[in-house]
Amino acid sequence: MQPNKLLKPGLYSATSGDQKGATARLKGGRCRCGYVFFPMQTYGCERCGSHGDALTPCELSAKGTLLAEATVHLHADKNRPAPFTIVKVALDDGPVIRTVLAEDSAPVAPGQRVTGRLAAIGQSDRGETVLDLRFSIAS
Ligand SMILES: [Zn+2]
Repeated sequence: MQPNKLLKPGLYSATSGDQKGATARLKGGRCRCGYVFFPMQTYGCERCGSHGDALTPCELSAKGTLLAEATVHLHADKNRPAPFTIVKVALDDGPVIRTVLAEDSAPVAPGQRVTGRLAAIGQSDRGETVLDLRFSIAS
C-alpha cells in the first residue's frame, strides 16, 4: 500500500496516524493573554498585539458547531471541481474557521455538531493518496 500524503501538513494532522477517516487535530496557536487562534502565526495576537515568543503553537480539536454553510456552484479556478460546500465552524477550542464540507456528508444546518476528518481527495504524482481536511456531521 502506498503511503498517504497530507495536502496541508502545516495546518492539521491526525493523532491516530494520517489515515483516511482519522479525526484531525488543527495546528493553532495560543497567546500569553489566553487568546486562541488558527492557523498558527507569529505576526501578532489579534486581541492584545503581543508577538514573537508570546505566541506558542497548540493543538486544537477539530470538533465544533456549524454556524453557516454555502454551496459553491462555479469556482474561479477551473481546476477546482464544483459544486462543493463551504462551512463556517465555531471550534470548541474557540476559533471560528471556514472550511470544506465532506462530499459524502449528509446535508447540514446551523447549530449541528461537526467534526473534521482526513478525506482522500486524489493521488499525488508518486501514487500517494492525498488527504485533506473535510468536515461532516459528528457521529
Ligand atoms: Zn494576546
